[in-house]
Amino acid sequence: MKLNRFVLILNFSFLFVLSSCSTHSADNQYEENTSKPVKNIIFMIGDGMSYAQIEGTENAIGKQLEMRKFPVSGTITTHAADKRITDSGAGGTALATGFKSNNGMIGMKADSTAVPSMLELFAEEGKQTAIVVSSGITHATPACFVAKDINRNNYEAIAKDFAESDKLNYFIGGARKHFVDREDSKNLLEEMTAKGWQFFDDLENAQFNASANAALFMADEHPVAVKDGRSDFLAKGTAKLLETMSMQADNGFFMMVEGSQIDWAGHANDSAYLVTEMIDFDNAVKAAVDFAEKDGETLVVVTADHETGGLTIINGVEKDYSSVRFNFSTVNHSAVAVPVFAYGPGSEYFTGMYDNTDIIGKIMKAAGK
Ligand code: MG
Ligand code: ZN
Repeated sequence: MKLNRFVLILNFSFLFVLSSCSTHSADNQYEENTSKPVKNIIFMIGDGMSYAQIEGTENAIGKQLEMRKFPVSGTITTHAADKRITDSGAGGTALATGFKSNNGMIGMKADSTAVPSMLELFAEEGKQTAIVVSSGITHATPACFVAKDINRNNYEAIAKDFAESDKLNYFIGGARKHFVDREDSKNLLEEMTAKGWQFFDDLENAQFNASANAALFMADEHPVAVKDGRSDFLAKGTAKLLETMSMQADNGFFMMVEGSQIDWAGHANDSAYLVTEMIDFDNAVKAAVDFAEKDGETLVVVTADHETGGLTIINGVEKDYSSVRFNFSTVNHSAVAVPVFAYGPGSEYFTGMYDNTDIIGKIMKAAGK
């Protein structure tokens, strides 16, 4: 058992907020607007995020996260086909495709049959597609939306699936090296450039427009943690791509955004790492819901693939939360259920307790399929 004190992450402004925050009322809900059909879908995954990660972060910063303000919420179970505790391969596959898989597998059923992801299904209908993550783009969660592989660690094969996909229009993340520094000596970025892709390494200079697919590499491997200086590209990249696609995607778009390192903070049992990654992800949620509020035809779904760290919140004897502690019970994933938050047209389908494989059907139903 490892107890991490909030004081690790508290600066004076946090302390001030803590002392003035004594309630948790949902006073600031986003108002539902379900008058139009769904045209755009923003699907957001907090890797390793369950209720204690949310509650703990809110306690630490003394205010509600944006995701909590969504008008509709539900709960999903997360087990893999072969294990009670899922990894991000099977968990991401269940969310992306609706099929249970074995741990370690990407975009395949447990019998290793490749299955399409919702990103691919929406692309086939003429929607534009995008992925924005704070890990390598070849890491398990984003891979489940584009690649098919029996082993999530086959990063170079997964990069090849990204390079050869005709379903993905834009992505932002790390893992540039899996495209250029390869055992087969291929330079996938050259191959993709020949097919019309454009590549950028700076968000300010990135040109996203209708004339070309485009990717922004934030790191050769994984982008660093927020606590080690990562920029706010998750939220800003999300906002920039939403603006781009809303102007040019006549048939709408599908976008997947992942707060990848919430999971790594859980594995590290590091509460400061966890809270900063949660805030970073929630800032991207804010960018998404700000867009959806104005747009009126956008469904935003925020969920997780599993819980990491077996986190509980204990010692909350003081009303102002100042005595609350993060209590991690494992350095691995746990089997507990995770939340779903929905905003926008079709969000009513997401109430209740169901399985991670049910998410895709609800999104399709909301989109009129
Ligand atoms: Mg992940
Ligand atoms: Zn993990």
